[in-house]
Amino acid sequence: MANPLFDSLFGKYAGRETPFLHLDGGGTVTHAAFLARAARFAHVFRELGAQAGDRLAAQIEKSPEALAIYAACIQSGIVFLPLNTAYTADEVAYFVENSGARILVCDGSRQAALAPVAAAAGAVLETLNADGSGSLRDRAESAPDSFETVARDADDLAAFLYTSGTTGRSKGAMLTQTNLLSNAEVLADQWRFTDTDVLLHALPIFHTHGLFVATNITLVAGGSMIFLPKFDQDRIIAALPMATTMMGVPTFYTRLLDDPRFTRDLVRHMRLFVSGSAPLLAETHVQFEERTGHRILERYGMTETNMNTSNPYDGERRAGTVGFPLPGVELKITNPETGARLPDGEIGQIEVRGPNVFKGYWQMPEKTREELREDGFFITGDLGLIDDRGYVQIVGRNKDLIISGGYNIYPKEIELVLDDQPGVLESAVVGVPHPDFGETVVGVLVAEPGADPDLDAIAAAVGKSLARFKHPRRLLLLSELPRNTMGKVQKNLLRDRFKDIFS
Ligand code: ATP
Ligand code: MG
Repeated sequence: MANPLFDSLFGKYAGRETPFLHLDGGGTVTHAAFLARAARFAHVFRELGAQAGDRLAAQIEKSPEALAIYAACIQSGIVFLPLNTAYTADEVAYFVENSGARILVCDGSRQAALAPVAAAAGAVLETLNADGSGSLRDRAESAPDSFETVARDADDLAAFLYTSGTTGRSKGAMLTQTNLLSNAEVLADQWRFTDTDVLLHALPIFHTHGLFVATNITLVAGGSMIFLPKFDQDRIIAALPMATTMMGVPTFYTRLLDDPRFTRDLVRHMRLFVSGSAPLLAETHVQFEERTGHRILERYGMTETNMNTSNPYDGERRAGTVGFPLPGVELKITNPETGARLPDGEIGQIEVRGPNVFKGYWQMPEKTREELREDGFFITGDLGLIDDRGYVQIVGRNKDLIISGGYNIYPKEIELVLDDQPGVLESAVVGVPHPDFGETVVGVLVAEPGADPDLDAIAAAVGKSLARFKHPRRLLLLSELPRNTMGKVQKNLLRDRFKDIFS
């Protein structure tokens, strides 16, 4: 009986005492031990009444056991639904109800808050704490450590992953075995992962980056991961000498660059640094190379599609771009109104098609129809262009586009100018309501440490380099930009905060 995803990621390690996870405290979990843990969980899930096709929602801290739940779900055909640990009980209630989850696993500290949520949704509630203890482990202790893998088709659902909710309510993306497996195989190959790789893993595992990109690639290739519970500067610095590769969101890299211990010598042996989930500033790319001699490899993807493009492993990694479409992925830039393909160099909406593209949003047929075309192209919601050498450049999200007095304004273009001004660390440009123009431009700036940027001088400088309709009508200084756990700037919060400044 076949279960392509389980067989390719996990099953092939049966009986292998090779290292899979290097833990923070110093221990190692071998592939065989990991599989045994997953098998026990799979028995428990069956005992609790979950069958192939049922959903299991988990809001738990990152741990080897948490990852074993993922493996157990794949092995037993249960659709895995990991949830952001920051979600409140009300938010979890939405996901559990929306997904019709049969089992909800939570941290022991949240049991009281989530018991009514589980009860209302008719789900069984179990606990799993960060240290691996909890009702789930208690139940698993007496379970057999092997489990007969449930047969699944390549087209069967493997996971529901909810989008980050950066532009609105999170949507549950239905991902099949093929979606996940095809992408992991392509990326492992493109980024040259092998069984000698040791990936420094400090990302959350409730998101596509840490769960599918990082973990699945490692499993496809056969290497191991240094599995840190979260991004902690001291631990990262301590672990880097043992790693060969690292994946991170841009804030990981900017924080490391702020640390004097992060030196060329510390990472001389490293093979690869990958960045994604949010735009990496070209400046960070340049600084990183100056400091370390490594060029960060930036790629682009999303919950609904896994990864779509990547800068090349060999060949130029172009700062400010996300590289080329991956093998098997078609990418086109289209006119948002007509859907017609645009010539290279013109900005339009990014659409992608390939084996990586999801089946649709769970129980949102209309939303699915709006964004997933009948011919298989998915309208990503991002705007971008293809440059003169075929590299894809993202200019921002469709929803962040500012339309002022009938003109389209791309925030990124203005942010790049603002970022270059003396004393400016970073910026975010948003559109806010304006009585004459419909919408107008506001520039939010964050100062470099200790700097006191001269806003008038900046306004004057912007005036020289950008057309008048793009000039921010107001520049504001904040101590930091609002970001979610994946390092994404939450422009909706900025828009909301400044929505009345011109009224
Ligand atoms: P929601 O869809 O709920 O608004 P979200 O789109 O932020 O949330 P994710 O699926 O986690 O949820 O993020 C995918 C998005 O992240 C992409 O559509 C894109 O806007 C952004 N992104 C990912 N990688 C990059 C990158 N390298 N450069 C720029 N943006 C990126
Ligand atoms: Mg999205």
